[in-house]
Amino acid sequence: MARDWLQNVKPDYDAIIIGSGLAGLTAANTLAKLGHSVLLLEQHANFGGLATWFTRPGGYLFDISLHGFPVGMVKSCRKYWTQEIADSIVQLKHIRFDNPQFSLETSFDVADFKRILKTRFQVAEETVDGFFSTVRAMNFYDDQTLTARQLFQNFFPGRDDVVRLLMEPIAYANGSTLDDPAITYGIVFSNFMSKGVYTFQGGTDTLLKRMRAELLRNGVDMRSHAPVEKILVDKKTVRGVQVNGRQIRAKAVLSNANLKATVLQLVGAEHLSREFLEETRAVRLNNSSCQVYLGIRNGEKIAHIGDLLFTSVLPRFDSAALCARNVTSRTFSVYYPDIRPGSSRFSIVSSTNANYSDWAGLSDEEYQRQKRGLIADTIAALEKYLPGVSARIGHAEAATPRTFLRYTGHLEGASFGTKFEGLKVSMGLPNEIQGLYHAGSVGIIMSGWLGAVNYGVIVANNVDKCVRERAAAKGTPS
Ligand SMILES: Cc1cc2nc3c(=O)[nH]c(=O)nc-3n(C[C@H](O)[C@H](O)[C@H](O)COP(=O)(O)OP(=O)(O)OC[C@H]3O[C@@H](n4cnc5c(N)ncnc54)[C@H](O)[C@@H]3O)c2cc1C
Repeated sequence: MARDWLQNVKPDYDAIIIGSGLAGLTAANTLAKLGHSVLLLEQHANFGGLATWFTRPGGYLFDISLHGFPVGMVKSCRKYWTQEIADSIVQLKHIRFDNPQFSLETSFDVADFKRILKTRFQVAEETVDGFFSTVRAMNFYDDQTLTARQLFQNFFPGRDDVVRLLMEPIAYANGSTLDDPAITYGIVFSNFMSKGVYTFQGGTDTLLKRMRAELLRNGVDMRSHAPVEKILVDKKTVRGVQVNGRQIRAKAVLSNANLKATVLQLVGAEHLSREFLEETRAVRLNNSSCQVYLGIRNGEKIAHIGDLLFTSVLPRFDSAALCARNVTSRTFSVYYPDIRPGSSRFSIVSSTNANYSDWAGLSDEEYQRQKRGLIADTIAALEKYLPGVSARIGHAEAATPRTFLRYTGHLEGASFGTKFEGLKVSMGLPNEIQGLYHAGSVGIIMSGWLGAVNYGVIVANNVDKCVRERAAAKGTPS
């Protein structure tokens, strides 16, 4: 008989969370700590969403999205998770760029970037200071019509080398382009620039193990293999969800699934105003990703070539070329044994931005051929930095936008949620359906590990208020 993944689930909860990405997990933890009964439903076998890892026979282990995040994660993990989790966050000090315009290493913090801009790129001190003050002062309520392209044009006209240095890492971090609002660039860039790039020592597996333990300690009912099929709505008010054919009631539902999938598929048009539907349909998804996972054989070593290596053979920065199937720009994340103290293994993950449309329609045979080509091109590119590495690779595998779609249900495999306009729809959802909320990568600012964690907390606080109000209206304790 098939296993019942919802065995002993209660008939109703204060709050149901759909999806266990970092926003869903953090929202669940916040609500449980506030005293609510919380059910967390994850369609996949693992919790964590894109914050995940996988293993392969031979002791190979690969992290998917642990390339780096801003220092703000330390504070967020301390406040919303545990001191132990916060204490495992460490800085990555060796960030390298190598492209036809420049080759350099940086600690990726404000002092070092200013130094590089002034000495290496010969930009006047007042221009550099003016640029950093401007981006640091950007906030959500600013003028959103200024694009990143115009921002750079204002400060560095004709300097596409400077634009590349400032823009390329952020394009990899959140999929933003020169034509996106400058604010989406500025806020993320400033987050990184405060103190550099950080990672989680112990790897994503340890992080998720600790988060899971904390959630269980706080009483969250966590269920994997539980794809929510429908959000139950009656009279413009959320009533619960349907999952694995079963209906479970809740005073509030928070979806961490893809924003458009939540509104258009799980809720359904019949419950929404025409205006909100049109606004949702117009939200643009962010691009997707390809990755190549390269595991070094047990007992073999590789030289230290930096932690993050932004490489490209393109003459100039080009947002469209970053996503093309015949991509020649890639970020190598090198995982040395110290990422998992006690381990002696090395792995390298190459990440590139990608368009879903380039991969979606391929026949199975052509898809496999393209994946093999991607792996071969990636290893050839890596040989420049690690001569002879091909002979030391014991496992090579690729993921494409189709892979990301399959594992997360994100429409078109979107790696960084939606473009800027998604934030308004995400925040406006409770005004359409009382008790229904969304948190997760939206609007670029709320993307990445830090954005997702923080957005989870913001929305959890709104859910808390709603649950208390609904409980008070019914005369029951929340
Ligand atoms: C290749 C790649 C590299 C990245 N690198 C970095 C990095 O170095 N640093 C960084 O900060 N960020 C990085 N990111 C981005 C970061 O991983 C994400 O922004 C963040 O993890 C997203 O969190 P989220 O809360 O939005 O949810 P997601 O991680 O998107 O999770 C959503 C969850 O909802 C579940 N779900 C969906 N539908 C349903 C349903 N109907 N029922 C039940 N469950 C459902 C999914 O299975 C999934 O678990 C990277 C992303 C990618 C793809």
